[in-house]
Amino acid sequence: MPTLMTTDTIVATATPAADGAIGIVRLSGPQALPLLRQVFCSRAGTSPAWRSHQLYHGGITDPATGQPLDEVLAVHMAAPHTYTREDMVEVQGHGGSATLRLIVALFTRLGARPAERGEFTLRAFLNGRIDLAQAEAVASLVTARTPAGVQQALGQLDGRLSAEIAAVRALLFDPLARIEAVLDFAEEDVPLPPRATLRDALAAAAACLQTILAGAARGLLVHEGARAVLVGRPNAGKSSLLNALLEADRAIVTPIPGTTRDVLTESLNLDGVPVTLVDTAGIAARTNDAVERLGVERSRAEIGRADVVLLVLDGATNPSPEDAAIAAAIGERPGVVVLNKADLPPRYPAAAAQDLLAAKPVCTVSALTGTGIAALRSTLTQLVVPTTGAAGDDLLLGNVRHVAALRRAADHLAAAQATLDSAYPLDMVTIDLRGALDALGEVTGHTVTEDLLDKIFSTFCIGK
Ligand code: GDP
Repeated sequence: MPTLMTTDTIVATATPAADGAIGIVRLSGPQALPLLRQVFCSRAGTSPAWRSHQLYHGGITDPATGQPLDEVLAVHMAAPHTYTREDMVEVQGHGGSATLRLIVALFTRLGARPAERGEFTLRAFLNGRIDLAQAEAVASLVTARTPAGVQQALGQLDGRLSAEIAAVRALLFDPLARIEAVLDFAEEDVPLPPRATLRDALAAAAACLQTILAGAARGLLVHEGARAVLVGRPNAGKSSLLNALLEADRAIVTPIPGTTRDVLTESLNLDGVPVTLVDTAGIAARTNDAVERLGVERSRAEIGRADVVLLVLDGATNPSPEDAAIAAAIGERPGVVVLNKADLPPRYPAAAAQDLLAAKPVCTVSALTGTGIAALRSTLTQLVVPTTGAAGDDLLLGNVRHVAALRRAADHLAAAQATLDSAYPLDMVTIDLRGALDALGEVTGHTVTEDLLDKIFSTFCIGK
């Protein structure tokens, strides 16, 4: 759990715990430079001048034993022009995690405290360098799965979402202040702002908020991803289709029916949305085989979690009652019928395929030759990716917490507007205006509890 105290000096490895060419140990706090001075010596044996933001070449040595630990490049960055706005030190050592652990242990022994998850970024927030939405963008950037996700996170880090929210807050502060002035100085006859003026301000704020929220569905998908599940009789070509879609050969392809028993997952990038493809064993209508039954159960569970289901049919065979049983399991979920093996003589009538999932698209493909795969991709994109709302560079939102807070702000605003239109007294309006401002402030961190900070930063990695 991160602590809100920022007077001590924290240390952590900032690079992944794996073998690599270099690895970075970072420190933040008032003791960062004094600690570095204790353990660093240049190749010439002199003590460097430690000019800010300049790299120095030398070695890290345990001062107690004289034992050299690593040859490194080290930099001191003086506050406030640093990630945390505190004095910072970065030591670039060799990438083996054992070496880096020894360096961290040395700094810890000399008085630094091991950093909690996200504590460097938490300090950047607490010291006012970035707001909460920007701090969370750092975590989004690390976990982004597509270039669109990276762009969204970078925009958020750059403060674009924060600026939009600040604009909405500014529109609400004035009406709130005016109404409160009337209420606070009731005996002094402060004139009440005309309801029409208040109405205009609230309408402008609500419109801004709706514009931000319009991109929410797509923004969330870009970050959370979607699930596409492939179902169908054994041997219909699910694994082959998955491979064709991924243009990779990772799933098990076998001519023996029913051998793809594990649920395999791979990821596609559909218009910026990372789509996890899940390959299931065939859902057979009747089966006595215990392992196969397990597969069937898992397939049903997978259909339940899917954003879109691909019903894969073997176009070179006749329709079977099993197909209808599988189609029934899909029900009203978004789905597409994939009539596979188009390179072989057709035996599955297109009308029968369409009847399985009425009103859903049918794509005729060959997983073997690649025919129709591009068209299937665009059909999937249409089914999964919302066409409304912002796209590309305009994606402001990508975080469930932000969307929830902004929706709450919008609800409060709608309630305030309704009160304004009714005969209710104006202090009712102030309650909802405050509610809206608080909800907006939760996104940027203007109104935020320590518990929420703990929750947010505990999802970060150590060293961030
Ligand atoms: P699954 O059991 O549904 O996963 O089916 P597989 O992907 O394992 O495919 C079963 C068999 O059908 C394999 O021998 C594949 O090579 C073959 N197959 C898959 N797709 C096609 C296709 O489009 N055309 C042809 N001719 N064979 C295919």
